[in-house]
Amino acid sequence: METVLEKIKDSQKNASDKFQPSGLLLQPLWDLRIGYEWYLTSPIFPVILSVTFYFCVTFPWTIFDIYGQDWKWIQKFKIQPTKSVTWPLVKQAVWVTFWNHMIFILPISVAQWIWQPATDFPSEAPTVWEFFWHQYASLMIFDFEYFVWHSVHHKIRPLYRWVHSIHHQYHSPFSWVTQYLHPWELISVGVFTTTSPWIFKAHPLTWWSFMLVSIIVSVEAHIGYDFWFMPHHWFYGWGGSIKHDMHHQRPLTNFAPFYTHWDWVFGTNCPGLLAGGEKSTFLMDYDKKRREKRFEKVKAKEAFLLDEKALHHKRLD
Ligand SMILES: [Zn+2]
Ligand SMILES: [Zn+2]
Repeated sequence: METVLEKIKDSQKNASDKFQPSGLLLQPLWDLRIGYEWYLTSPIFPVILSVTFYFCVTFPWTIFDIYGQDWKWIQKFKIQPTKSVTWPLVKQAVWVTFWNHMIFILPISVAQWIWQPATDFPSEAPTVWEFFWHQYASLMIFDFEYFVWHSVHHKIRPLYRWVHSIHHQYHSPFSWVTQYLHPWELISVGVFTTTSPWIFKAHPLTWWSFMLVSIIVSVEAHIGYDFWFMPHHWFYGWGGSIKHDMHHQRPLTNFAPFYTHWDWVFGTNCPGLLAGGEKSTFLMDYDKKRREKRFEKVKAKEAFLLDEKALHHKRLD
């Protein structure tokens, strides 16, 4: 039986035949695959790539959260400055994430590896345009799929209680909360991330890049900081950390993970708290309107009860 090392050696031996000058800007990057195709085409590669990348992206924030509690230059950007992140909280989230991957994601990938044979890669890289628009569109599709999944898992009580409430154990999120999920939620997110680029028959390079981008933006939504350089300050319609942090504070708002348009359409959009826990004028207006609505509801109920009472007395007379 051919060993893994022999397979890699074989593909490296044929590597020189596979270089094809194509004039595509991303071709040099795509050519780096040559010699490693046997490993890269296996379904287990995306899992290893995404898990390793997730741990790399989340870890630096732990330094800020744990060791940076006295660093004023970073603490002033915290969205909930009165809440601190402790080692036991981090350990619990890392532990659950690790076991979710070991018990559920890894066996699913191995099973997929057995049932679905590895397929050949295209020899040409994607064009730059295709590379970017496929990722942008995939993020849009993922955003919609998760918006629906998320709303349903908040509105149907048993689904919230048994599945999504695990993620809401943290009212003040930090980076590791991103994948602190019930296995069903982790699998659903994995399926959305994997299948969204399939719609466009995206190139493998685009697909891998999309996986990394979706990890970055998911972690960004949970870091609990509002830095001036973050995308929500520059791109209209991007929710970012402030919107998702607010979702953890007020769970019936901001169901969309990245963009804000679906929450606008369905009336669940709520402005977020800013750095240092500052309330923006948008949030003050939102709260004012909410108080007025609640007051109107109470008034309407009181008027209805008075009418009922008057009617009752009239009948008795
Ligand atoms: Zn969350
Ligand atoms: Zn939620």
